[in-house]
Amino acid sequence: MNTVNEIQLEEAPVLFHQLSEHDYEQIVFCQDKSTGLKAIIAIHNTTLGPGLGGTRMYNYKNEHDAITDVLRLSRGMTYKAAISGLNLGGAKAVIIGDPGKLKNEAFMRRFGRFIENLSGKYITAEDIGTTTRDMEYIKMETDHVTGLPEIVGGGGDPSPVTAYGVYLGMKACAKEVFGNDSLNGKKVLVEGVGKVGSNLVERLTKEGAKVMIADVNEDALIAVAKAYNCQVVQLKEVFNQDMDIYAPCALGASLNTDSISRMSCSIVAGAANNQLADEQLHGQMLLDKGILYAPDFLINAGGLINVYTELIGYKRDIALGQAEKIYGVTLDIIAKSKQEHIPTYLAANKMAEERINGIGKIHMNY
Ligand code: NAD
Repeated sequence: MNTVNEIQLEEAPVLFHQLSEHDYEQIVFCQDKSTGLKAIIAIHNTTLGPGLGGTRMYNYKNEHDAITDVLRLSRGMTYKAAISGLNLGGAKAVIIGDPGKLKNEAFMRRFGRFIENLSGKYITAEDIGTTTRDMEYIKMETDHVTGLPEIVGGGGDPSPVTAYGVYLGMKACAKEVFGNDSLNGKKVLVEGVGKVGSNLVERLTKEGAKVMIADVNEDALIAVAKAYNCQVVQLKEVFNQDMDIYAPCALGASLNTDSISRMSCSIVAGAANNQLADEQLHGQMLLDKGILYAPDFLINAGGLINVYTELIGYKRDIALGQAEKIYGVTLDIIAKSKQEHIPTYLAANKMAEERINGIGKIHMNY
């Protein structure tokens, strides 16, 4: 069996190789025996501002999976903040363990103290496995936290702002494909009618779209179908439907070789994160098929915009006003994609990188 020193010697170069590949700034490993806390904070890039990203708590199979997840997620936050025009960098935290078993006040406050030690370079918020209550505990130890409940001055549930951004991104795509941005009469299939999906359905039906819905949760389906008078579709039938727009609002990776080869819509625009199972392969496949894809990290940025607004003094109107910019940026990305003959996801990545590099340069001199 390896000794601790041997493991460090063997693994450190691998980790540093991984970090340098996408130029991560700092990784912080947090350990506290008395509370059982094991967390990793990854700060990917702070060119534009402090790294903001939620804390995900999950019972990872092993430490390797936790590191991989935090690296992937923190880098994604850099791009999301940059493309949204926010003065934020990208970061994320993961806590290893079962949230139901481990979390309590001391546990979260201990984590808050680790965040405080970073002096504002990292700002946290809620994510899968953490709640607004956890953010309140963290707030007892540090000001570098957002996503607090409305009752203590926070922004509350970001889903309506996220849904608004998705709706606007979808309209921008409609303008490109149909010549105007009205969704009246358009057949839209919303897969996943949870917090974001149901808000989106409300906006779409108000505009006169013919909305179809699919979800694993029968109760959610019945409630949304009844409230907005829309047609329910079996999950296995989603990609056989005659639709103009597919809006994935459930899990990631729903755009894969099988689904893309079956779907016959003109636009994909939804809230789910990481919709392309393989960015390069499936981004290109959609382009080749003539399907316009609204990059997920751009049009679902309303949640990030909402927590950012909290940092500067929360008002829902300000958050919605910021989210309105998603319409224009989506049009810019479509134009860039056409001009450079590249998939929209790549146009969005390039635009985010251009902003980071441009702003980075103006900060080079005193
Ligand atoms: P949610 O949990 O409220 O809703 C998700 C819905 O998807 C649920 O109704 C669930 O039953 C359904 N679902 C789960 N697995 C499914 C499957 N295999 N097939 C079909 N339906 C399935 O989540 P949400 O907050 O509405 O977020 C939806 C998506 O948008 C997620 O991918 C999330 O990461 C992303 N997102 C959300 C926000 C936000 O502000 N809430 C912000 C950015 C991105």
